[in-house]
Amino acid sequence: MAFAVTQSCCNDASCVSVCPVNCIHPAPGEPGFGTTEMVFIDPRSCIDCGACADACPVDAIKPVDALVGDEQAYAAINAAHFEDAPAPAWGAPDFPASLDAHAAGLRVAVVGTGPAASYAASALLTTSARVTMVDRLEQPGGLVRFGVAPDHLDTRKIGARFETVRRHPRVEMVLGTEVGRDVTHEQLLTHHDAVVYAVGASADRRLDVPGEDLAGSLPARTFVGWYNGHPEVPADVVDLTAGGEGRTGRVVVVGNGNVALDMARLLLTDTAGLAGTPLAAHALAALGASAVTEVVLVGRRGPDEAAYSLSELRPLLAREDLDVVVDGGPEVAAAVAAAAPGSKAAALQGCEVAPLDHAGPAPGRRRLVLRFHTVVERLVGDARVEAVCLAPAPGAVRDTEEVRTGLVLRSVGYRSEPVPGLPFDHATSTVPHREGRVVDPATGRPVPATYVVGWIKRGPRGGIGSNRADAAETVGAVVDDANARVISSGRGSTRSFRRALPR
Ligand SMILES: Cc1cc2nc3c(=O)[nH]c(=O)nc-3n(C[C@H](O)[C@H](O)[C@H](O)COP(=O)(O)OP(=O)(O)OC[C@H]3O[C@@H](n4cnc5c(N)ncnc54)[C@H](O)[C@@H]3O)c2cc1C
Ligand code: SF4
Ligand code: SF4
Repeated sequence: MAFAVTQSCCNDASCVSVCPVNCIHPAPGEPGFGTTEMVFIDPRSCIDCGACADACPVDAIKPVDALVGDEQAYAAINAAHFEDAPAPAWGAPDFPASLDAHAAGLRVAVVGTGPAASYAASALLTTSARVTMVDRLEQPGGLVRFGVAPDHLDTRKIGARFETVRRHPRVEMVLGTEVGRDVTHEQLLTHHDAVVYAVGASADRRLDVPGEDLAGSLPARTFVGWYNGHPEVPADVVDLTAGGEGRTGRVVVVGNGNVALDMARLLLTDTAGLAGTPLAAHALAALGASAVTEVVLVGRRGPDEAAYSLSELRPLLAREDLDVVVDGGPEVAAAVAAAAPGSKAAALQGCEVAPLDHAGPAPGRRRLVLRFHTVVERLVGDARVEAVCLAPAPGAVRDTEEVRTGLVLRSVGYRSEPVPGLPFDHATSTVPHREGRVVDPATGRPVPATYVVGWIKRGPRGGIGSNRADAAETVGAVVDDANARVISSGRGSTRSFRRALPR
């Protein structure tokens, strides 16, 4: 029968280490790990023990016989990964780092409560370390709470796994406390032996085109925060009715990654299917009254290089209440027709491919339009957005064209901001580091007892699970430094740290 990995896999490799017959790949350290959309189970070797399904934090692993609806495709998708591939050899066993007796009870502050912070805290707790988790928001979870789409219920289950970390008796939670505003790096170090920053990427990359800041042009971060009820995003920031930003019935999303697809999907989903999800109440009401029927997704590259993952696109292609069309000329149609089986472009082979006219209002039936090889030249309007001027990407053949819209969502990436007291590389928007140890670029030396993990370390790339291996590296550096007495242990106490916080 065998088991199969399905859509909600977030690539954290929890299943890999429990499989008794090494049939889940790519495993950490193997080619493809972290770049494939998910891991796959080799049906030739699986012995149906179910250990991986028990270990999966997002219920992504199911017996092949129990797959229903769209999930059934995953039996073939898992098997196809191993076609012509010899069974991979066992890797060397990987043991978690442990603290020497002199470093027992190491006190570590972890700044952030998102995936990177949670995996780092979890790895620290496998030693005798004590952990203080500090977050600027009163609600913990980072992007698992305020980023992951509310209808991705399986993915959000990982929040429960992270909550068990926060409830561990050796974890102290300090919420509503911003490092750099309410407490300094030096104060954290006075009361802890080491500080691990897992502060993510809390700003947006810009398009840098005229009209970008017109009313009705929002960064994805704001729209995502709006539907997830982020405390800093006003409930009335979007008006999807015919009198507001929804007046043309069309939304243009710039970018075609998974966040762009999340936003498009929510804009084009009947709210009956969203009731009971963690979608914010104001967003549920606004989507219920929405006049939007069409979302145009604009991407710079071609249909095979789109940034979204196939596992996010497939469910949209399967929907009967939604048309998915490709707005492109004969060259795009030819590329889609000739695409290699299993590729992103091949997934579009059942879709209409033709140049569309966006001068008028959106059609009545829900429609997702994928437009490739296109860049935004400018946003058009006096006080608010009325149209987007789209131009062909370099090398593409197409006239420049205005697409009428009242709402533009800019989904071209997140960006980290400098952390007060730490060096910062403005070119990559990350904190310079070696294996997680923060490094002062002026001297090339590690900044004492200071570490990074997650998006602030690697840049805003990779899903939730990619932070697990990253956290193992950073925590390994903390433990090695403690064992080598590079950082001292025994500094401060929870009580003294709490006394130092503003009241
Ligand atoms: C919109 C969106 C949807 C996504 N959906 C998925 C998905 O479905 N599946 C998937 O696998 N991946 C998804 N991802 C990717 C995933 O969320 C990231 O890989 C992950 O969140 C990065 O983790 P992080 O801990 O580095 O950052 P974050 O999750 O952003 O956590 C950073 C934390 O630090 C806190 N913080 C920031 N500055 C300070 C400060 N100065 N003091 C104290 N606290 C601070 C923040 O409040 C936050 O809690 C999504 C990403 C986005 C943007
Ligand atoms: S069911 Fe057992 S043998 Fe099969 S992939 Fe999962 S852990 Fe491995
Ligand atoms: S989410 Fe993690 S445990 Fe679940 S299938 Fe994917 S890699 Fe395995």
